[in-house]
Amino acid sequence: MGFFMHAIDIQGLNKVYDNGVVALSDVDLRVSQGEILGLLGPNGAGKTTLIGIINTLVQKTSGQVEVLGHSLDSDPSALKACVGTVPQEYNFSIFEQVFDIVKWQAGYFGLPRRVAKERATHYLKQLQLWDKKDLPARTLSGGMKRRLMIARAMVHEPKVLILDEPTAGVDIEIRRSMWEYLLQLKQEGTTVILTTHYLEEAEFLCDRIAIINQGKIIKDAPKDELISELSFQSFIFDVQGAQELPLSDNEFTMTKLSSSRFRVDLTAGQSLNHVLDFFSKNGVIVTSMRN
Ligand code: ADP
Repeated sequence: MGFFMHAIDIQGLNKVYDNGVVALSDVDLRVSQGEILGLLGPNGAGKTTLIGIINTLVQKTSGQVEVLGHSLDSDPSALKACVGTVPQEYNFSIFEQVFDIVKWQAGYFGLPRRVAKERATHYLKQLQLWDKKDLPARTLSGGMKRRLMIARAMVHEPKVLILDEPTAGVDIEIRRSMWEYLLQLKQEGTTVILTTHYLEEAEFLCDRIAIINQGKIIKDAPKDELISELSFQSFIFDVQGAQELPLSDNEFTMTKLSSSRFRVDLTAGQSLNHVLDFFSKNGVIVTSMRN
């Protein structure tokens, strides 16, 4: 495999669902090899759709997607072989045994039986599930089930790993051990995209953070830059469709700078997601944000 500047290269990506919902609108996103990208944004922003397109489960409407030089249009199976996915929902049968779940996934990717067993052994040990290998998955705790999904996603040793809220609802100790594991994968050259609602998680793990809102990437910046901006708690939003925005009817300190530009000052406990939700509920489209 050659060297590619970007592990993931997305240009002009659009997704309109059959019911007319525009889930992604002209998304450009590039992720370098070995980088960890955090995808942040409120519910309904388009994160799951974006991930679904990269892992070939959701069909795009238009645009270009390449993973390690493999085009989604011309070589979807080569692209698929490069990508491992850890979804939010459990994607295994809880009645099967832990070892079999991982081993069968290897078989699904066409690995010989001996390799499948070796990989299942390796990744179950690495994710500290080896002593659970003969148990049915339903007996595992929530954190263990998530680690099982990671072991399963790693079994074909994908160059790109995508995780949808990997640590939602797991306790702090397990969260930390997952973070360590993802950093280890990064060291080994794996490119990681993860969605998260925890700013702390993005801060600890990510090299870059992209904020998605109403199907658009409204911010894409190195982590350090973004975190220092977020601590400002004061943002300028460029928007469309704000003529009727009820300025007095919200919990934020919002100042109208022009018909398409607003400043929002947040107080403790208010998050960016609240502001994005407020715009969204009022039919306002955010085109960019900055301090
Ligand atoms: P997120 O993961 O950021 O919460 P999603 O990608 O799930 O966002 O959703 C983006 C938008 O697309 C939402 O408005 C959602 O209701 C809509 N949507 C998601 N899946 C479907 C679907 N299968 N059919 C129709 N609309 C969908």
